[in-house]
Amino acid sequence: MRAPTMNNLDLVAPAAPDELCGRVDDLFRQRFGGAPDGVWMAPGRVNLIGEHIDYIGASVMPFALPYATAVAVRVHNEDRVRLASTGHQDHWEGGGADIGPHRPNGWAGYVAGVPWAMTYHDTIARIPGLDIAVHSSVPQGAGLSSSAALETATALAIAELFGAATDDSGRRTLARDCITAENVVVGAATGGMDQSAALRARAGHVMLLDCNTFGVEHLKLDCRPAGVVFLVINTNAPHRLVEGSYGLRRSRVERVCARIGRSALLHTDDVDAVLNCARTDDPPLRRALRHVLTEIRRVSAVADLLRADEIAAIGPHLSASHASLRDDLVVSSPELDTAVDAALDAGALGARMIGGGFGGSALALVRTERLPDVIEAVGRAALDHRLPKPDFLCGIPSGAARRVY
Ligand code: ADP
Ligand code: MG
Repeated sequence: MRAPTMNNLDLVAPAAPDELCGRVDDLFRQRFGGAPDGVWMAPGRVNLIGEHIDYIGASVMPFALPYATAVAVRVHNEDRVRLASTGHQDHWEGGGADIGPHRPNGWAGYVAGVPWAMTYHDTIARIPGLDIAVHSSVPQGAGLSSSAALETATALAIAELFGAATDDSGRRTLARDCITAENVVVGAATGGMDQSAALRARAGHVMLLDCNTFGVEHLKLDCRPAGVVFLVINTNAPHRLVEGSYGLRRSRVERVCARIGRSALLHTDDVDAVLNCARTDDPPLRRALRHVLTEIRRVSAVADLLRADEIAAIGPHLSASHASLRDDLVVSSPELDTAVDAALDAGALGARMIGGGFGGSALALVRTERLPDVIEAVGRAALDHRLPKPDFLCGIPSGAARRVY
């Protein structure tokens, strides 16, 4: 999985599947005794472009990362779900009656919520007895979707163990179940991009995901022949008021988009004319709408460039997306702006914050030979601005959730 050009740099190496599986198998045996029925893994993701438009049913472009979450799972006949993770000290154990809306709390909700949601949607008949161990190389809370990796690895395991479909249409169903788990059991807002990416991505491709129909077009993202790489920058910024701020921006977007017909929102070329249709003088609302309208059009432009195999040419669209998120929707942060500016100053072809905003990670498109300079510049800028030291990860477009053994 590791691109040779990325060796010897200050990059977090993606864990080899063998290593992930070895660690999760060890934890399983220590905690529960005996062997699991199998091990499944699911990837984290980045979103190439299309931010704050998933929940209004527009198209977004996620691709899976070579960092993944592995779950070792065993089915048994008791009414008990037992969970352990190398990522958290606290273990969890409960019966079917202990799982439901807003329970269990904490990380266990992301795992136990999955069989609950699969039962709720009739994908399986009842919550089975389960022992589940978890180990991950996806950083948690960095905007790289460790939550969806955890949910989807669990969902795929349960689906395979109970004979539910796992072809593309089965995976669509599993994505829906994972969204329900996160919305209802965890109580977090998620639009479905992350779960769809983890379950349906293709190595070497980016997904053009229609968040209205959940239809997918896989577009080739062949970096090596183009001489470019994607660099993921985890700013390690502390979360600040994330939920409240995200919710405010989202409701602003939803409110103003409700005034515009879907066809104008998605297709009309004249952005100013559509803006005027919204009949609002409220500057934040008007700017939120401008972000949505321009972002939807940037997604189309990037998709067209990728269909023409013009990866390097998408850079300016990534940077324009960042400027729009920073200036129009106002969801960036000093850490994200510093990283993006430093990457661009050091010669990145394009860079942008990814995810809902107010922290998390950024993505830069870089000519391979410029990668050391960009990494050095972004690290130095964080130091100069007294910001947390970022981590650098490899943005290699990777495959979807799968059974390892
Ligand atoms: P992101 O999905 O961007 O990483 P979220 O806040 O949506 O951030 O999800 C992070 C949460 O998911 C963690 O706080 C934890 O509750 C859960 N989680 C993710 N990975 C693991 C893991 N390996 N073990 C246990 N819990 C995990
Ligand atoms: Mg998440």
